[in-house]
Amino acid sequence: MPYVITDACVDVMDRTCVDQCPVECIRPGERMLYIDPDLCIDCGACEPVCPQGAIHLADALPPALQRFRTINAEFFTGPGGDHPDVAALPSR
Ligand code: SF4
Repeated sequence: MPYVITDACVDVMDRTCVDQCPVECIRPGERMLYIDPDLCIDCGACEPVCPQGAIHLADALPPALQRFRTINAEFFTGPGGDHPDVAALPSR
């Protein structure tokens, strides 16, 4: 069960989580970071260090953030750059 980064990361990209990840599965887009669900080992190290509270266990996502499970996964199969749904979010 992978962890998922959500919209609280958008236009913040603190990146503390990147240094905590033992398998280097957190990658930057232009406006937010994304977790590769195929590489995440569910260690949970990234979740508490995010100052935005942007990281959630996939099965514990609040209903309004469920779509970020797909958004994180599709980032890694897409053409590069942010997921289109993230690119379309208003600027903070
Ligand atoms: Fe990396 Fe662990 Fe976070 Fe998965 S749960 S993204 S392996 S730090």
